[in-house]
Amino acid sequence: MSPVNKNASRVTVRLWRLLAVSCAVAAIGAGAARAQDAKPAEPDVARANQAVQSQLSFADRQDFDDATRGYIATLPDPSGQDRFAFLKSAAPATANPSLWREAQLDAINGLFKVTDGVYQIRGLSVAAMTIVEGKTGVIVIDSLASPGEAGAALALYFAHRPHRPVKAVIYSHNHSDHYSGASTLVAPADAASGKVKVIAPTGFMPALIEEASVAANLGNRRGGFQFGAALPVGAQGTLEYGEGIVVTRGPNGPGPIVPPNDLIQKPVESRTIDGVTFVFQLALNSEAPSEMFVYLPQKHLLDVSEDATHTLHNLLPIRGTLVRDALSWSKALNQALDRFGGDVQVMINQHQWPVWGNMRVRASLEDHRDLYKYIHDQTVRMMNQGLGPTDIAEKLTMPPGLEQEWALRGYYGTLSQDAKAVYQRYAGWYDGNPANLHALPPAEEAGKLVDYMGGADAVVAHARADFTAGNYRWVAQIMDQVLFADPANKAARDLAADAFEQMGYLAEAAPWRNSYLLAAQELRHGAPAPRRAVPAISAELLQVMTIGQIFDYLGTRIDGPRAGTSKIVINWRFTDTKESLAATLAHGALTWIDGKAASNPDATVTTTRPVFESVILGQRSLADATAQGGVAIAGNANSVSDLWGLLVTFTTNFPLVAPAG
Ligand SMILES: [Zn+2]
Repeated sequence: MSPVNKNASRVTVRLWRLLAVSCAVAAIGAGAARAQDAKPAEPDVARANQAVQSQLSFADRQDFDDATRGYIATLPDPSGQDRFAFLKSAAPATANPSLWREAQLDAINGLFKVTDGVYQIRGLSVAAMTIVEGKTGVIVIDSLASPGEAGAALALYFAHRPHRPVKAVIYSHNHSDHYSGASTLVAPADAASGKVKVIAPTGFMPALIEEASVAANLGNRRGGFQFGAALPVGAQGTLEYGEGIVVTRGPNGPGPIVPPNDLIQKPVESRTIDGVTFVFQLALNSEAPSEMFVYLPQKHLLDVSEDATHTLHNLLPIRGTLVRDALSWSKALNQALDRFGGDVQVMINQHQWPVWGNMRVRASLEDHRDLYKYIHDQTVRMMNQGLGPTDIAEKLTMPPGLEQEWALRGYYGTLSQDAKAVYQRYAGWYDGNPANLHALPPAEEAGKLVDYMGGADAVVAHARADFTAGNYRWVAQIMDQVLFADPANKAARDLAADAFEQMGYLAEAAPWRNSYLLAAQELRHGAPAPRRAVPAISAELLQVMTIGQIFDYLGTRIDGPRAGTSKIVINWRFTDTKESLAATLAHGALTWIDGKAASNPDATVTTTRPVFESVILGQRSLADATAQGGVAIAGNANSVSDLWGLLVTFTTNFPLVAPAG
């Protein structure tokens, strides 16, 4: 494997530790050396992309006016060049013009004045930062994806506005591109003591930890496809991630997570902070489990967090998260419209540009409200009429009358994904057809199928004709069967790569484009070699997890079959946090009761959280920590090392596009 791929995967993993569960994206451009491998658009792809020009209202420039309105200044691209300057050209044959337009808009970045006393920093990180000016200081909504980026954003603001202290920090929701930079805005000690208010919607920390811990290793790998971090930036590479572009203008290493010290618990609550009235409306189980809107009556400004940006969003991002609830999402927007719609003059979100004017804000809220309700209701209708998820995804169209709305098009989420997500939320993975109840696993199914079809050569020859006919979806699907039957089949690999590439050029959704183009890249050049990735959790996250949450995470690393019928009972005591926990391994399952000690444990372990976390992170072995006096074991010490020995090592970059060759 090449150094390029190594670097790309390292960047991906490092950022994903930071951005484990958010709507976030990793640094772009690490795979630039691959650009010359890209093939041109096939003639039918070029024609299809050209046709988009006449299907949508490109003459409508309102979004460009809004995305540049109030512009004050920006920061230079630290790479020394504007990596996204290529977007100034007209859409090429290798990109869907609709996605190209969204990328042009998302590439507009810097510090913007929204209204008197409210500023935004957009396009300098995955998400946006909103700064509200109070009597003596500023209140900051969301902190970007790293302390370095938050510092750069704040410095840009202070370069153009009075330098005053941060009086409070508000988190719109529990995704890491919105909270990871907070330690720049508020000293963690000042947050812990309550000296500076850190306000968040109820359930913030449990939701943050659930989304960032147990499934993080899978999310890292799949997130690489969603965000396209290992792709070159450009007309034949990644354009953006669907809701913004990352031109990181500050160091993006991790920093401590700053837990909130003031939770919004009721459906609507108000606070007056530094002379500014904030009305919070909970929007739980919408785009994130813990999310809220903010209304500033003095400014007539509504912040809808990430529930109404300039794209159809994800009910289930392809990196893999808990499924989201379209019904709650629609209701939250409807309540905001009802509550604030008469008074509002400007609507902001925490990623993209604002919408100004009461009529336009109301229309936007209505459109997004109806979009999620329509997706929900029509999917459920078709479910109850007996259609399976794949058929529904194919049949579902935009709500009547909203087909042309730029802000609702599928740049980040897609109708197809969202229909399947609604189906999954109510009915799960099974489509009701007993043939699918216990299907053969992919490699076995593929082997049989290719054999029945007369062997791989015959299938590849047939698929070449379909490629020529422009049936790329099918070519990718059927070549997948050949590759799962025989991962070493070079002809199938090449043809699959060519099909994925054309699909990438056609895609309106950025995550689909990124996924298809990365699939092509990995089929042509191989996936980056798997690397040891223990523990697939960040030091920053461990620090804010309860001991029970840490043991839940550790349980997912137990090799159950190897544990067999071993029974191990250990009492754990943490002298610094005063936490205690009785953990039992039985039948391969690790369970626990906190605040208790088992009466007849195999061992009692006394340690501190920093030592324990350093062992989990692999910074030292359990044996070393014990020898150095950081861990004291009373009873059978072997039981502790036996338990620890059952934890598996995760790797990054496991095969997804095809089985390992
Ligand atoms: Zn976000």
